[in-house]
Amino acid sequence: SAISNLGELLQRGAAAAPALRAPGRPALTHEGLRALAAGTVAALNAKGIGRGDRVAIVLPNGPEMAAAFLCVAAGASTAPLNPSYKGDEFTFYLDDLKPKAIIVQQADATPARASAEALGIPVLELIPGEAAGSFTLQGGTPGTASKPGMAEADDEALVLHTSGTTARPKIVPLSQRNITASARHIGTALELSESDCCLNIMPLFHIHGLIAAVLSSVAAGGAVCCTGGFDALKFFRLLDEERPTWYTAVPTMHQTILSRADRNAEIIQRAKLRLIRSSSASLPGPVMEAMEATFGCPLVESYGMTEAAHQMASNPLRGKRKPGAVGLPAGPEVRIMSDEGEFLPQGEVGEVVIRGPNVTAGYEANPEANAKAFTNGWFRTGDQGMLDADGYLQLTGRLKELINRGGEKVSPLEVDGVLSAHSAVAQALTFAIPHSKLGEEVGAAVVLREGAELTERELRDFAAKYLADFKVPRKVVFLPEIPKGATGKLMRIGLAEKLGISL
Ligand code: ATP
Ligand code: MG
Repeated sequence: SAISNLGELLQRGAAAAPALRAPGRPALTHEGLRALAAGTVAALNAKGIGRGDRVAIVLPNGPEMAAAFLCVAAGASTAPLNPSYKGDEFTFYLDDLKPKAIIVQQADATPARASAEALGIPVLELIPGEAAGSFTLQGGTPGTASKPGMAEADDEALVLHTSGTTARPKIVPLSQRNITASARHIGTALELSESDCCLNIMPLFHIHGLIAAVLSSVAAGGAVCCTGGFDALKFFRLLDEERPTWYTAVPTMHQTILSRADRNAEIIQRAKLRLIRSSSASLPGPVMEAMEATFGCPLVESYGMTEAAHQMASNPLRGKRKPGAVGLPAGPEVRIMSDEGEFLPQGEVGEVVIRGPNVTAGYEANPEANAKAFTNGWFRTGDQGMLDADGYLQLTGRLKELINRGGEKVSPLEVDGVLSAHSAVAQALTFAIPHSKLGEEVGAAVVLREGAELTERELRDFAAKYLADFKVPRKVVFLPEIPKGATGKLMRIGLAEKLGISL
């Protein structure tokens, strides 16, 4: 069953089974989704848009966003953009990506319209139908697509920028093969089937939500229930009313959910969750264990990145789930490489490299980044880690995030783990503070648990029990919340400047 394009992938669900759901709306069935995709491809072809041509999508999070992604990608390429961008940001991304059209919601006064018009990009308006995700497109001008019909394996399906955690965002084109392979890898790891329904709380302009929540569900013949995004107050109500069998999220969301678990104990009791998935950033071991104990189901931590169409490794659903490890290779081959390009043996720390059908062929228009990123056909992730004796991948940090304290490298991940183990700490993020003599010093931003009290001195003393002195944060700041990037990721780089912390 070597499915290698969206058109084939959409054929997998039973005709009458729900594919897209949304609270308070009738579901769109798999048959309905197939018809919507065929109609969308024909409509785009009639506007001169065909295989490989890019269509930017600026829609609120929800079922139409999921449907537009699936249906446009069946015969063209999709460029989802964060709907909360300002005019200048839309202009930057549209100019960078050069789409042949942009889809916006009817009556949505998004500044993306003016940016598109200034760049001469036709605006297509999406008009929602009754069933979740169903839509029609209006606008654009008649034209002839040079490559009409359903897209093929090597055609571009999705183009995204990386999150920009470590550097200026890079353009990542992903082919039909890349994204369908990744969706199947996730389905295999989680044993997804037609009886599953994912509650999507992730934004649909990033790889995690698009592939792990939406595409993997549809590929398994199951359903995804599309919400407007993560809302801590609505989460438990949706869990109760929509009866999802799983959800996927970033660690900060799990931490928020966990902090509200006590007052929602009855809903958790009644819930139908079969598993919970975490990805995109490191999940502290104590949080993983608390989530499993609270929800009574496996918490599967996975390792993903944009360039891999998301998933690279995953803790097993049934086997041992190791707190702090990102799991076993779950799709691509995973090895550890030295700076010199040699494979390193088990137990040795080096750069994580991957190779497989889900991995991008390379960054767009960025030969320098590509020269650095590929070694003998292996893609260098920029993450540092090792394979342990059981073959599990343990990440030790991101190459660019290592704090360089006068030549002594400190893994901020390691310090996070120690600080998070203190009973008063809900969340901790270690970062570099510029320092005149050492180059960088270790700092930490900490969110305390509700009602907990702790001083900087007490936390530093606690950390000193487990960490060499040079790794103990020189400065700890207590905050109500740690600032996040658009994906909900915590941003270590630049945090000291952002918080106005200096030494
Ligand atoms: P940029 O590449 O622009 O700096 P980014 O790497 O944060 O941004 P993404 O592609 O969204 O952009 O994120 C991928 C990265 O997220 C991985 O390379 C890894 O560093 C981190 N990551 C993903 N999953 C995990 C995990 N389970 N544990 C720890 N880190 C993770
Ligand atoms: Mg990256």
